[in-house]
Amino acid sequence: MNHTSRLTQAVIDLDALVKNYQYIANLASNSNTIAVIKADAYGHDATKVASALSTSVNLFAVGFIDEALALRSDGIDNTILILEGPFKESDFEIAVENNFSLMLHSDYQIKWLSAMNPEFSGDVWLKVDTGMNRLGFQVEQVDDIMSKLTTQQRKKLVLCSHFSTAEQINSTKPVEQLAKLKKLVSQYHCKFSMANSAGILNWPTSHGDHTRLGLALYGISPIGDTPLSQPLIPVMTLQAKIIAIHTVKTGEYVGYGDIWQAQRETILATVAIGYADGYPRNAKAGTPVFIKGAIAPLVGRVSMDMVTVDITDLNNSDLTNTGLDNTHVDNTDVDNTDVDNIIIGDTVELWGKNISIDTVAQNSDTINYELLTRVSKRVPKVIAS
Ligand SMILES: *Cc1c(COP(=O)(O)O)cnc(C)c1O
Repeated sequence: MNHTSRLTQAVIDLDALVKNYQYIANLASNSNTIAVIKADAYGHDATKVASALSTSVNLFAVGFIDEALALRSDGIDNTILILEGPFKESDFEIAVENNFSLMLHSDYQIKWLSAMNPEFSGDVWLKVDTGMNRLGFQVEQVDDIMSKLTTQQRKKLVLCSHFSTAEQINSTKPVEQLAKLKKLVSQYHCKFSMANSAGILNWPTSHGDHTRLGLALYGISPIGDTPLSQPLIPVMTLQAKIIAIHTVKTGEYVGYGDIWQAQRETILATVAIGYADGYPRNAKAGTPVFIKGAIAPLVGRVSMDMVTVDITDLNNSDLTNTGLDNTHVDNTDVDNTDVDNIIIGDTVELWGKNISIDTVAQNSDTINYELLTRVSKRVPKVIAS
């Protein structure tokens, strides 16, 4: 028997995932939409995500071969594209055995490719550097690389590149990057892939033969508050339980470092989630959490296993329209386990459908991608029922 005592969970809504996929795939209906599930599907559990999408998606992408092999051993048998290509010469054999496509970006990988006998039968994708300056061949190198591919490899070749500013609709850089890639594509008459999530939404001319859908698949828009024709649905809800409720007097400090001082008598809920779970330690006081239909602010420093939340205002009768049942409010006699109807054991959403992960990211000087991928191993990923 599996005993779970601490109900700190990342609840994964697979219906939302499939809906997001279908919506985005329809926006780029002339392209094949690759589901990018690297980094454990952005922290959502790659096996669960791949299983839910396996009939709608014909190509998954991960960062490196180890991630793809883990999916194979969990029974996922769709073709998988390896975005960073082989790190070892023997990765080519593994790719053949397992039906992995390889994105090649450097000379050492081309040397290994040329040394294969029989020739590498998997699909070859060539990454061209159009201005991100992280990975890929220079435009001038492409001719030489082409000459090293076999006829079969060239036939199936996909040329690709990656945007550095696709989320910035006023940037001219994406246009320049796309022009560079498209020039090569018409020169060599091959397929191409350029668009990540922001590219799909902002730059329709970049859709090409394959789009590479990451963030938006998980229900988070890479272009912030810009309205979409259909809202994306957040797939992950990070939640935890209240394990203590108590009142502190005006002037008392809360948490490590005494960085937050109560300006009034304050009712605090202590919630069983901390930075060891991936909730960011530098989340500022005021970062919202969601409890029983209402919003409450974080106060004090985030600890390893816990955070503290000011629920004083959730005890206010003027919050009756928040969905809270305030009928048994008794401000004069707060006992330590039952404040208003917020009680020990209540579920708190840290981010998900009610608290935008972007709000948490802004309050902790990071981005949604980092928060998602840093939800730690000790937080079980549970399928929403
Ligand atoms: C991660 C990744 C993507 C997906 O990007 P999103 O912004 O999450 O959509 C696409 N292409 C490559 C090469 C990537 O590494």
